[in-house]
Amino acid sequence: MMFVENIDSGRYTTTSQSIQFGPWNISYDISCILPSVCSTKVVCERNDNQFCQFCIYCKELSLPHFPDMVFPKNILKLEHKSGTAIQFNPLDALRNVSTKARAIEVACAEEWQESRPNATKPKNTFDWTFSTDYKGTLSENIIIEPTEEAIDFDLLKRKEQIIFYHDLTLFEDELHDHGISKLSVKIRVMPTYWYVLMRYFLRVDDVLVRSHETRMFHLLNKDYILREFTVKEAKAQDINIPTYQMKEADDVIPFLPVKEKKMEKLIINLEKN
Ligand SMILES: [Zn+2]
Repeated sequence: MMFVENIDSGRYTTTSQSIQFGPWNISYDISCILPSVCSTKVVCERNDNQFCQFCIYCKELSLPHFPDMVFPKNILKLEHKSGTAIQFNPLDALRNVSTKARAIEVACAEEWQESRPNATKPKNTFDWTFSTDYKGTLSENIIIEPTEEAIDFDLLKRKEQIIFYHDLTLFEDELHDHGISKLSVKIRVMPTYWYVLMRYFLRVDDVLVRSHETRMFHLLNKDYILREFTVKEAKAQDINIPTYQMKEADDVIPFLPVKEKKMEKLIINLEKN
């Protein structure tokens, strides 16, 4: 994994916001959408390591096509003064999309096709739902350990002053108007902690609903971050919610059964080497 800013910094207009929170610098960039063709052919064809975002995506990913909307520089960064860094970026998220169709995607495509005989069949040579189990990009000095410790959700619900907040979309695809596949990440900084929720949400209308959620929680002055990864999924027929009431992830995710849950401690080295 590499940090996106290293591969073509300065060639793409972005706006940024940042905040200093104890030893952390927390920032995000916002960019426009990934173009669907090479935007600087003369430069990219020189092949001297300067490429437009589109060409970077083509080189780095082996997907036959990308989601309708990718925001290549919508990136959330959490950097600790020790050098520890956590990043959420769409390129690394799309690296984790399977290039082989899994059984579920094929079944899904067939069922989808049966319900819409005139629709163009989604390509099932890869995971066309862009399902990703991306949990963020971590710097190498972070030690990952399993833990029993849970995120303190009571603390998260407490009404306190919000110091910093943003909701970034990393990519989104409307599955040819038959659903949604979306990856987004939210950051919230409060007086004593920061909290990140990254959410991959998939709804294939009348077929399937799925979510992959990564939560990161860090109490100021602790030497670790809690990371919770949760997979939820249900067939549309098994959840009694009409499609029109499933427009937003929040409408449906709380009702989905949990398929997998993993708690980890990300230990950060507080000493600067
Ligand atoms: Zn290019």
